[in-house]
Amino acid sequence: MKKPELLAPAGNLEKLKMAVVYGADAVYLGGKNFGLRAAAGNFSTAELAEGIAFAHRHGAKVYVTVNIFANNKDLQELPSYLKSLQELGADAIIVSDPGVFAVARETVPGMPCHLSTQANTTNWRSALFWQEAGIARIILARELSLAEIAEIRRHVKVELEVFVHGAMCWAYSGRCYLSLHLAGRSGNRGECAQACRWKYYLLEEKTPGVYMPVQEDSRGIYILNARDLCLIDYLGRLAAAGVNSFKIEGRMKSAYYVATVTRAYRRALDAYLHDPNYTTDPALHAELQAISHRPYSTGFLEGNPGLSGQVFDSAQLVASHEFIGVVRSYDPLTKRAVVEMRNRFAAGERLEMFGPKTECREFVVTDLRNADGEPIREAVRVQEHVSLAMQDHVEEYAIVRRRLAQL
Ligand code: SF4
Repeated sequence: MKKPELLAPAGNLEKLKMAVVYGADAVYLGGKNFGLRAAAGNFSTAELAEGIAFAHRHGAKVYVTVNIFANNKDLQELPSYLKSLQELGADAIIVSDPGVFAVARETVPGMPCHLSTQANTTNWRSALFWQEAGIARIILARELSLAEIAEIRRHVKVELEVFVHGAMCWAYSGRCYLSLHLAGRSGNRGECAQACRWKYYLLEEKTPGVYMPVQEDSRGIYILNARDLCLIDYLGRLAAAGVNSFKIEGRMKSAYYVATVTRAYRRALDAYLHDPNYTTDPALHAELQAISHRPYSTGFLEGNPGLSGQVFDSAQLVASHEFIGVVRSYDPLTKRAVVEMRNRFAAGERLEMFGPKTECREFVVTDLRNADGEPIREAVRVQEHVSLAMQDHVEEYAIVRRRLAQL
């Protein structure tokens, strides 16, 4: 069997570059049309061309989502869009609608089609159906156990992709109208407002304005608030079960999130491939606590999690660290690093930094200067480029972060 692939989200061009330099074998992204993540800063044609060229230069593949459930009117522009993706060099498209798949077969027959998790493939007979129809890869439903995945693999040759990390939907793979109903934003069109994670109260119809808490804690109750998925401990078992691609969820997440999660899974996957008896380094678990997340669970992998898959007392995201900025360049002559700032920081602060190839290290911010080279006490403007003195070499794309608390 081929080495399994690590597949990371690319919500925009910067996140694509982060995913690739931090070790993704492939990225998935949306163009401006026909994707489910409408609000994820989708790629223009020029950005697609640049992103695909960057990924290919680094030996990574690019898959483009075309996974809306199309209405009749959507079909008209679909062929020309698919042809443009092929011309740009996309390695595959991700579809969920059989109509879109049929148009893709006719229009770009050489382009591999991956079946989106939105198609809810939960059994081997469905998998066989899609294999016979010409699908190159099936992104399995998240609601499957390890045993079920292994059984599907025994019946099909088609590539199998499985989500290993990220947010879980309360509804079946996002087939949900809650957000559309409550916020006018459709989860089925990539505009979900995560209405399932809002806090809810009980309202008696004859007593308007009186919101009775269904008490769990003083702030309310979170009845539909799914834990995040984390399967870093299962990569070896999933590979043994015949999974070809490990997918990280999160096109809406930050570049810091993408870099941190991709780096952790890259290290775990390489270690498993080197030694099938590898058990996850606790440092990688700690790294996955560093990004904003809900408490983790293993989802459905050991069977239906029932109530243990939910968080009832808070919808709060937790993180042990805060994103400060990205290193854009380092001058070995002046020994200064240029950082694009995301959260304010000050001279004299103790921060952390890690790069695509370098380990995390602590350092103290010294000789902080603005873009004009003038000394400043604090960096305050998001996206501002500031420089600081760093004795040791710093990689481009290195992440700067602040420790918040021990979780
Ligand atoms: S509201 Fe919740 S369950 Fe529904 S699509 Fe959004 S995240 Fe998924």
